[in-house]
Amino acid sequence: MANRAQPLSLQRIVFLSVSVVLCLQVGWWIRLQIRESGRLLEVSTRALKAGRAQAWQMDSLTLLTTLHSQPDPSSRTGSVEGRHPTMPSLAERRQAIQTAFPQVELVPRPMAPDDPVLLDGAAYLTLRPGPLKELEDQRWHAVFRASTEGAFMVFAVLFGFVLLYRKLSEEVDLKLRQRNFTSAVTHELKTPIASLRVWTETLFTRELAQEQRQRIHGLMEKDLERLNELVGNLLDVARAESGSLVLHLTPLELAPWLKGVCEGMDHRLGPGALGLRLEVSPDPLWVDADSKALGTVIENLLSNAYKYAAEPRKTTVTLDGDGDDVLLVVSDQGHGLSAKDLPRVFHRFFRVGDEMTRQVAGTGLGLFLVKEIVVRHGGDVRASSRGVGFGSAFTIRLPRRNPPEEG
Ligand code: ADP
Repeated sequence: MANRAQPLSLQRIVFLSVSVVLCLQVGWWIRLQIRESGRLLEVSTRALKAGRAQAWQMDSLTLLTTLHSQPDPSSRTGSVEGRHPTMPSLAERRQAIQTAFPQVELVPRPMAPDDPVLLDGAAYLTLRPGPLKELEDQRWHAVFRASTEGAFMVFAVLFGFVLLYRKLSEEVDLKLRQRNFTSAVTHELKTPIASLRVWTETLFTRELAQEQRQRIHGLMEKDLERLNELVGNLLDVARAESGSLVLHLTPLELAPWLKGVCEGMDHRLGPGALGLRLEVSPDPLWVDADSKALGTVIENLLSNAYKYAAEPRKTTVTLDGDGDDVLLVVSDQGHGLSAKDLPRVFHRFFRVGDEMTRQVAGTGLGLFLVKEIVVRHGGDVRASSRGVGFGSAFTIRLPRRNPPEEG
C-alpha cells in the first residue's frame, strides 16, 4: 500500500496545488476586469459631466453676449427703440443646449447635488438618465462576461485535470497490479514445483508403504492440477487479450452440465469442502455456449468461493430462467467484498488488499477471464456483496435459446 499511496498522494498534491493556483489566477483576472470596467464607467461619467459643464458655459456665454450687445448710451440717437436687446427664451436655450449636448437636459429642480443652475436661475442642467444607465449596463455586461468566461476557463481546465488525474491514477494502479501479478505468478509457479520436487525425491529415495505412496500421489496430483489451472488461465488471458480466444458455441442444456462441473470441482477441492448446494430450476434451460470455456468460468468462481471463505464453507449455485435470459449465481458466505472493491474485481491483476497481507494464493486473473468469457457469450457478469464479512455473489446472465430440434 505504501508504494501505491506515494505516487497517488504526490499526484493529488500536484493536482490540488495547480487547481488552487489556477483558481487564484482566474479570481485575480476577474477582479482586474471588474476594476477595469469600474474605471471605464468613472471616466465615461466624468466625460458626461464635462459635457454638462460645457453646456452651462455655452448658455452663459449666449446670455452674456446678448447682454453686452446693448448699444452704447453715448451713441444714442434719441430714439428708445432697439435699446433693449432681445434675450433668448428658455425654449430657445433648451433647444440650443439639447442640439449641442444631447446627454444634457433642463429641469426645474436639481436632480443631482452637483447639477448647475443657469445664470438667470431659470432652470438646472442635469444629465439624462438614459446614457448613465447605458454605461451602468455596459459595466455589468462586462463584469458578467468576465465572470462567465473565468468560470468556463476554470471548469474547462479543471475538467481536463480531472481526466488527466484519473488516467494517471489508472496507470499507476495498473503498474502496481502488474508488479503484484509478477510476484504472485512467480510464487504460484514456484510453490507446486518445489512441492513436486520434494515428493519426487521422497518417492525415489525412501522406502514407503503403499498407503503412503498413494497419499503422496494424491498430493502430487493436486500440485499438478494447480499448475495446470494456472498455466491454463495464463494462456486463456493471453488469448483473450490478443483476440485469439475463439469460442465454439453449441446448444447446451445447463442443468446436467452444471451438475457435472460442480461435482468435478467438489471432488478436486476435497469432497464437501465447498459445502455446496445446487439449486436448479426444473425447466429445461438452454444456451449457446462453449462448454469448456463456460466450465472455466464456473470453476474459477467456485475456486474463489473456496479460497475466500473460511471453514465450514457454504456455497450455493443456482440456475434459473429470467425472461429471455438465464441466471447462474454462485454465492458464498466468505470474506465478502467492500463497495469500493466491487467494481474493480473484474480488472486485470486486481487483488483485494496488499500483497503482503494476502494470505490466499492467486494472480488476479480469474475474474478478468470470467468476464471475458461471459461477454463473448453475449452475456454479463456482476459481483455483489453486503460488505466485508458478509459473503459475495457472482451473477451470470446469458441469453436463453430454445431447445434444439430433435433428429
Ligand atoms: P485471484 O483469486 O487469483 O486473486 P480473481 O480475479 O479470481 O483473482 O479475483 C480477484 C480478487 O477478487 C481476489 O484477489 C479477491 O480479493 C477478490 N475475490 C474474488 N472472488 C471473491 C469471493 N468469492 N469472495 C471474496 N473476494 C473475492
